[in-house]
Amino acid sequence: MKTPTKYITVTGGVLSGLGKGIAAASIGHLLSSRLKIIPIKCDGYLNVDPGTMNPFEHGEVFVLDDGGEVDMDFGHYERFLGVRCKSNWNLTMGKVFDMVRKKERRGDYLGKTVQYIPHVTDVIKSHIFGIVQEEQADLVIIEIGGTVGDIENELFLEAMRQMKEDVGRQNIVYIHLTYVPIPHGVNEQKSKPTQQSVNLLKQRGIFPDIIIGRCSHFLTKEIKAKISSFCDVTAEAVITGLDVDDIYEIPIIFEQEGLPEIIHKKLNIYSPPDLRKWKRLVDNIKSPDKRITVAMCGKYTRLEDSYASIIESFNHCSAHFRSKIDLKWVETTDLKDASFLKSLDGLIVPGGFGSRGTEGKIEAIRLAREQNIPFLGLCLGLQLAVIEFARNVCGLEDANSTEIAPDTPHPIIDILPEQKSITEKGGTMRLGAYPAVLKEGSLVHALYQKTRVCERHRHRYEVNPDYHQILSENGMVFSGTSADGRLVEFIELPDLKFFVATQAHPELKSRMEFPAPLFYGFVKACLDGAADRADPHKESQ
Ligand code: GLN
Repeated sequence: MKTPTKYITVTGGVLSGLGKGIAAASIGHLLSSRLKIIPIKCDGYLNVDPGTMNPFEHGEVFVLDDGGEVDMDFGHYERFLGVRCKSNWNLTMGKVFDMVRKKERRGDYLGKTVQYIPHVTDVIKSHIFGIVQEEQADLVIIEIGGTVGDIENELFLEAMRQMKEDVGRQNIVYIHLTYVPIPHGVNEQKSKPTQQSVNLLKQRGIFPDIIIGRCSHFLTKEIKAKISSFCDVTAEAVITGLDVDDIYEIPIIFEQEGLPEIIHKKLNIYSPPDLRKWKRLVDNIKSPDKRITVAMCGKYTRLEDSYASIIESFNHCSAHFRSKIDLKWVETTDLKDASFLKSLDGLIVPGGFGSRGTEGKIEAIRLAREQNIPFLGLCLGLQLAVIEFARNVCGLEDANSTEIAPDTPHPIIDILPEQKSITEKGGTMRLGAYPAVLKEGSLVHALYQKTRVCERHRHRYEVNPDYHQILSENGMVFSGTSADGRLVEFIELPDLKFFVATQAHPELKSRMEFPAPLFYGFVKACLDGAADRADPHKESQ
């Protein structure tokens, strides 16, 4: 008989931003050697998905293979668990209410008064059980967004409370992440916020089995004992969630704190972690022997969360090249002169929407092209690189994207006729994984080492096919296109050290164990350039 599916719920207390997503992903990483693990995230907001939310407020919108726009925690899940997530694994209260309303209109409730309990909580649970069934999961890790006590998460918490009756208490573990401060002047770890937060959870009928205390230092034996007695968990089930410089250290800390054994014991599962390779890579990040600085021209530069996957892709390269990669954030809204780039090792122009700052980015790309500084363009970054090339190499004055200048004389980037009919906001973009065919002999082909790749997309505009010819005649290589050749997926300038851009978002599939090939190639070019400059002998050759 198949062992029953096991469940872990992860809730958070005291304050937001303690790293529940990374904690959930790290737990998954530690238990993944023998189990099929499915991560589920419940978010209390009423948007159906975060696709329409400003990344400034909510962080990066993470895009899945199936085109789902989901919470950025799915980035952590995919990177730590090595799974390809699906959009229905992100359950928002907006989705839940949508499902309840549809059922009500269909008459499914047979004249009953539709209520939060049991109707809304039933929808939450049956959605989760549906996923379990479909995926044949051994273990489901359910992260509840927000902080216990927030009004919008009450129904998710209630559903989690009820779950123990449905699945059996022995098959579910409740983990609560809290904060253990060391107030200035007091200089000792304090347990009161944890006690109060656990009390809030208990008032909702959830009695945690494991408490993770986020702290700047390892939790002492004394504080563990105190939390244990006040919060009614065993002392060994009080785990340090240490502040770290690098999130990839968290699974290592959790293992050191004995978390996998406790979960194994409580759920009666066996899936021993093997962190050898992971530790080697983390060591490389922590003890770099080379250093480069890359300019990152973005719009939401004030909030690093809006570019989380790009930052992680660079971390993955750091691990492979044992190098420190400093990102210099450049706000381009008022940028007129990009000559500061000459002292840096590379330029990355990431995705974005709207016109603000685009002229500054185009200027930075021009400088990178003219000075042969490694350049990587992602999505909008590709579009701006093509605009720059059209203007300054092909002589197409005022070439632009119709997103930026609808009346441009040279709409080099445009919405294609086949996409113009789709107008409704929220679902108008080309979203999800699409295949591209790579040109043999190109740099992109050499980096991917295959002719067909499938990267994820999130955009509306494309390189206008009317201009393909003039661009290629002037030396731009379309190193990857859709199978019919109509959509440009990758470009490069072969005479330069590294000038590559893609319409896709390869950062979304980068993993610590397998950095995204374009990032790998870009970082290598930056490192080579830095090494050449540091070696005057080479320079003079
Ligand atoms: N705004 C551009 C488009 O919609 C690029 C989008 C992006 O960079 N993600 O096509």
